[in-house]
Amino acid sequence: MNVLDSQRLEGVLQELGLSPAESSESADVALLNTCSVREKAAQKVLSRLGELRKARAAGGKPGVVGLCGCVAEQDGASLLSRSPILSFVLGPGQIGQLPAALQSVGEGKRVNVTGFPADQEYESHLIARSAGARQLVTVVHGCNQHCTFCVVPYTRGRERSRALAAIVTEVRALAARGAKEVTLLGQTVNAYRCPASGAELPDLLEAVGAVEGLWRVQFLTSHPAFFTGSSVERIAAVPRLGSYLHIPFQSGSNAVLKRMHRSYTREEYLDLVSRLRAARPAVTLSTDVIVGFPGETEEDFEATLDLVSRVRFGQLYGFAYSPRPRTPAARYAGRVARATASERLERLFAVQTAIQLELNQALIGRRVEALIDGPARRGSQLWQGRGEDNRVVIVPAWDGIREGQLARVKIGGATAHALIGEAVGEADRAA
Ligand code: SAM
Repeated sequence: MNVLDSQRLEGVLQELGLSPAESSESADVALLNTCSVREKAAQKVLSRLGELRKARAAGGKPGVVGLCGCVAEQDGASLLSRSPILSFVLGPGQIGQLPAALQSVGEGKRVNVTGFPADQEYESHLIARSAGARQLVTVVHGCNQHCTFCVVPYTRGRERSRALAAIVTEVRALAARGAKEVTLLGQTVNAYRCPASGAELPDLLEAVGAVEGLWRVQFLTSHPAFFTGSSVERIAAVPRLGSYLHIPFQSGSNAVLKRMHRSYTREEYLDLVSRLRAARPAVTLSTDVIVGFPGETEEDFEATLDLVSRVRFGQLYGFAYSPRPRTPAARYAGRVARATASERLERLFAVQTAIQLELNQALIGRRVEALIDGPARRGSQLWQGRGEDNRVVIVPAWDGIREGQLARVKIGGATAHALIGEAVGEADRAA
């Protein structure tokens, strides 16, 4: 979502006639897009502002510095008083107001543009998209969940779904310019409800999946409690749906889930996994986990490890709990020591890495389709792509290999984090 917001900000600057500079330090206008989901991300902003201050003292640039994104929304005007280098602060609900903010700066003002106006703009034609074959499309802004650890409802506002027709038009335009994979984004994407027709996520996926030229449609992030009614079966039946589903479970302990305000139990999560696998046996699940949430005992944490071992996720993003401003959990008793949280995170990653290695090794000898992204490292003869289940696939380059190519790859080896293969047969390579 932050990547897409940066593309939206860049698109507005380009519309104003600005073009990319070599670096922020040599730019007339430098925007920092920020994340505040964990404290570490928010702290990075301060060190980056320090670097820009030094650059300006040395060479006079960047001339204008704007702070955008979730830290802007969270700290607003106080950032202007704390950081004299800042010309303006602009929240994620105000991207359309960037020209007005720059105009105010031109008039010598320093402005705080935050909040979520009812008529918030989302000008999809202004997004400065990458040339790549993978594209992101926001379908739900904001979040209504109020998980007790999470800052997102405060920084991205109330949940608002975009109209299905506008999304389909945007995806058609992306496919026409070469997009092969589109990922539909929302904090709780499976709460999608078209404001015009009441259409839900399965309807949206069916409509987007029918767009000519796409290879795969993905969506993220799903909340376990929103796969209601027949949605699992309907989603699983969408023909071009990628077989990768990201469904955070956060904790395997019911006591912790309750304090997190997650509205499902571990049993319900496991039941959801069974339903998904029954409807789509090849599905690869990925998840987010928080360790060291206030009050998490060793027993609670073991319940998390147990759930990871039972589900066998293809990918897992693990985080040590980080207290965030305005969130209820930041005031909870029972802080878990940092060292304990780090040690739990390491144990979690060790269990997950072993599972991933086994799952990846089981694919040796298989043929998979992969969408090629580019050299694995700059100048490397090994190129990297991803399969429809989001697994990284490494292949030796061949004559004519290019970004956005769909390749058929025979898997010859595997690590915990990648499949290693070889493209098979010229004829098998779809353009
Ligand atoms: N809306 C999604 C959800 O609720 O599942 C994702 C929200 S967040 C942008 C991505 C992940 O960051 C979360 O799933 C959670 O695991 C992690 N996260 C959020 N707040 C956190 C916090 N205060 N400390 C540590 N991790 C956090």
